[in-house]
Amino acid sequence: MSDGRSFVADLDARQRAMLAEMGVRVWAPKAVAPVEPADLGERAQPAASEDPAHAAARPEPVRVAPPVQPAPVAPAPARPSVTVPAVDVALRPQGIDQMDWDGLRAAVAGCQACALHRGRTNTVFGTGDVSADWMVVGEAPGENEDLQGEPFVGAAGQLLDRMLQAVGRSRQGQGAQGVYIANVLKCRPPANRNPQPPEIAQCEPFLVRQVAMLRPRLILAMGRFAVQTLLGSTEPIGRLRGTVHHYQGVPVVVTYHPAYLLRNPIDKRKAWADLCLAMDIGGTPLRR
Ligand code: SF4
Repeated sequence: MSDGRSFVADLDARQRAMLAEMGVRVWAPKAVAPVEPADLGERAQPAASEDPAHAAARPEPVRVAPPVQPAPVAPAPARPSVTVPAVDVALRPQGIDQMDWDGLRAAVAGCQACALHRGRTNTVFGTGDVSADWMVVGEAPGENEDLQGEPFVGAAGQLLDRMLQAVGRSRQGQGAQGVYIANVLKCRPPANRNPQPPEIAQCEPFLVRQVAMLRPRLILAMGRFAVQTLLGSTEPIGRLRGTVHHYQGVPVVVTYHPAYLLRNPIDKRKAWADLCLAMDIGGTPLRR
């Protein structure tokens, strides 16, 4: 196990290149004063009127870490009032809240509780280590996910993997180095249309059970529908970012979906800030 500083030192060239490409800073624990590029430039360049030899001999100025600012926390975990559509709960498998992993996976595979089961190739249950202490929640399977039965594949999945790698985690990792990835909806909406409220209401108990069994330290909610489902909110992501929310008692950090980031790379910097917030509240990165 290593602390955040050694993690930063452990970033390989590929990770640093990716972060440089995103134009973002490397995360460091809050107790460590951030070293801004401007500071580095200031130290490296002695004043024009100053003898460089004297500048080299001059002691380094003492830098004082700025006071730590706690991440804002949403005032109450209670879900705002959002109309929950009426659904026929009798169509759902019974006893979801008592199922183990194998039972839950089998229940999802055979679920016909909403019309989405008719068009699916595969259900997309989730992937990753069930002892991982981070959980990523997306919205619904797309075409590739439906074909492969795995969440976050294709270009968006690759970007998610790079984002997770930059904070020392992966879907292959375990415990504090891992992440479990699931969607709100387990079946693909046709033609990648938006999930409908009755579909979300019918499918959410599976996600609730996954969260209850995982008991993660942190949920990273990605994309509008995942965010709005978990938070019971109709607010846009831009208004929900930067604050620690809760779902089933678990801290939630909100960020953009990787597919959105591929279309809007200017917002990668915001996504990195969200990951830094997640690191601040969700644990110290560990050596891979
Ligand atoms: S989307 Fe969820 S509720 Fe609908 S059929 Fe698939 S598993 Fe069942």
